[in-house]
Amino acid sequence: MPTVALLATGGTIASTGGPDGRVPTATGRDLLRQAGLSGGETTVPVRDLELGGSFSWDLEKMRLVVEEMQAALAAPVPGTDGARPDGLVVTHGTDTMEETVFLASLLLDDPRPVVLTGAQEPYDSRSPDGPENLRDAFAVAADPLARDRGPLLCFDGMVFAARGVTKIDTLSHRAFGAPGRGRRRRGA
Ligand code: ASP
Repeated sequence: MPTVALLATGGTIASTGGPDGRVPTATGRDLLRQAGLSGGETTVPVRDLELGGSFSWDLEKMRLVVEEMQAALAAPVPGTDGARPDGLVVTHGTDTMEETVFLASLLLDDPRPVVLTGAQEPYDSRSPDGPENLRDAFAVAADPLARDRGPLLCFDGMVFAARGVTKIDTLSHRAFGAPGRGRRRRGA
């Protein structure tokens, strides 16, 4: 069974409503539990980063997140003889996810899948899209076919390469697209 680690950096996927508006409050383990992913308790290595809304991140913060990705990939999986994770999922606000995945594609040099995801609906929504996005991201990160493709962005049942992906909708669950980069025909 491949081991996929989780780096949780906030975003709508982790946000709940409160007196100060909607802010990230759910931890990585909360997200795993909500998605029904085994490992919500202990087996998935999780790192939580608190950096505020991704809409306010500058290049320095994005670089920090990429460094945390490197650290998560390098960290031994607890309960093993020092084995490293087979892949990494990063939960991220949608506003700058395309910038972070692009920066990661420039800075990371690792064949293992790194898959960014998030949500349009908050954690405490009655119909959250985060759990399905997270399950999809874990499935992609565990798939050997996702190796050697650079960091990927997985959202609403679609998987995008870092180059060309962009946020195309503020509200709909289909938040990301890659205009001008349609599906490839087999063999093309
Ligand atoms: N609106 C953003 C999101 O969808 C918030 C952020 O980018 O942190 O996650």
